[in-house]
Amino acid sequence: MNSVTKPPRTDESLLHPELQAAGDPDAIFRNGRRLDHAEGSSRPLKSQPEPQPRGAKIHGSRPVDQAEAAARFIAAPEHEKMHDERLWDLRQKRDREMHGIPEWEELRSLASAIKEHTLTHLDHYLEEFEASAQANGIHVHWAADAAEHNRTVHGILKGHGARTLIKSKSMLTEECGFRPYMASVGIEVIETDLGERIQQLDNEDPSHVVVPAVHKLRTDVAKVFSESIGTDPDNSEVHYLAEAQREATRPLILAADAGMTGCNFAVAETGTFVVCTNEGNADLSANVPKLHIASIGIEKLIPRLEHLAVFVRLLSRSALGSPLTQYTSHFRGPRKGAEMHIVLVDNGRSRRLVMQEFWTSLKCIRCGACMNTCPVYRRSGGLSYGATYSGPIGLIIDPTYNARKFSKLPFSSTLNGSCTNVCPVKINIHEQILAWRRELVRQHEVPFAKTALMKAAGKLLSHPAAYRAAVSAADAVLPHLPRFVIYNGLNAWGKHREVPTAPQQTFHSWYQTNRGGAS
Ligand code: SF4
Repeated sequence: MNSVTKPPRTDESLLHPELQAAGDPDAIFRNGRRLDHAEGSSRPLKSQPEPQPRGAKIHGSRPVDQAEAAARFIAAPEHEKMHDERLWDLRQKRDREMHGIPEWEELRSLASAIKEHTLTHLDHYLEEFEASAQANGIHVHWAADAAEHNRTVHGILKGHGARTLIKSKSMLTEECGFRPYMASVGIEVIETDLGERIQQLDNEDPSHVVVPAVHKLRTDVAKVFSESIGTDPDNSEVHYLAEAQREATRPLILAADAGMTGCNFAVAETGTFVVCTNEGNADLSANVPKLHIASIGIEKLIPRLEHLAVFVRLLSRSALGSPLTQYTSHFRGPRKGAEMHIVLVDNGRSRRLVMQEFWTSLKCIRCGACMNTCPVYRRSGGLSYGATYSGPIGLIIDPTYNARKFSKLPFSSTLNGSCTNVCPVKINIHEQILAWRRELVRQHEVPFAKTALMKAAGKLLSHPAAYRAAVSAADAVLPHLPRFVIYNGLNAWGKHREVPTAPQQTFHSWYQTNRGGAS
């Protein structure tokens, strides 16, 4: 029998295969040794990168002007192109994954049915979840709104003398204004998700529920890191930036007093919850410090463990076009010698639950597929919405918090229905957006000029003879009007379009002449 001699372990053999790869044109060597990315020398990519367009301007509760912020985003062509292409790429990957699952539509129907059942029996499942979690040794707290959530978490941290908190991405905490609150009480929060950390260092909100910094070019990230963690401003090489951030953040993670996560799914029968990430950062937040706090929106409940598979199969495929997230972490209870707390947060959810036309928006699993497919979102960036939730689902959720402030958002949609088609839990998104438009008119939250114009248009369209007379008059007059009369500040439609030349004959008149049809 041949004896097998193991090769000696060398430094080189410990390197990640990617770092050992021969012939890598990007490799940087010094004194015969290949440098890690963070050690690499600067390689400017662009001397004058395009400045990053910023998000919507917020003025208290005054209506957010999404169109104004979108116009600034479109005026930055590199950002607009990158954003559009990157998100469309995710949409295409999602389609490829979907076609690989013959029972995809059945999965969507099942997910929708499970969520609708849970939401219509939410009181029962919340109590079951609380009892199961407590039986697992978890402390359960309830928060009616954002303020109570923040106070509750602060109370727990204070009780443990915690001054630093590491945290994985959670849209719920964004909704609660958690980071500014913690800053106000002197507790340092360190985001552990790379995209979220970039946004934190840049003092911006996430622009997408899954990929928070997707609106940034790497030159934008290089600028943020150079100003915050001292990297080379001219080096926007992605590995260099990622590793520099990792080196800057790891010591903070290891020294943190407490950790916080969100939750993707909470299982009522077991009292367990699941967090899906691609960086494993939720596991760091949950397992490095001895105190773990999880913020959970009450709509995250599912009844039984067997239901989890339905959602796990849909989530990552819909979000990023990958079969699974790299980590699907299940949390059942505190480790030995550690403590685990859950804060179950309402913050407007039960109010939405009784809204006849909008309650099914609570089925949302925050995959972001509706954003990736939306032509308005792709070309305007998530920060143009001026709200925690952007894109098609944001147009439904945001006005439930403040109808006046977000009264313009439901009009930022083409109503093409693509969002509804891709939604893994079958929310009728475009129909709910339309319903919000009706509701905002009913609540007098639409500008008077628009309402008056729509009323006049409604009258005209319901009187065929008057409509035809108006069309004929417009056809005759329009070609002779001075340009400024048509293309001015009042005509938003004409900003990027030319009125087409009218045909010699309308279809109606052609039909009457050639077919003798009655009007
Ligand atoms: S509405 Fe549907 S598609 Fe949009 S984020 Fe939620 S689950 Fe995903």
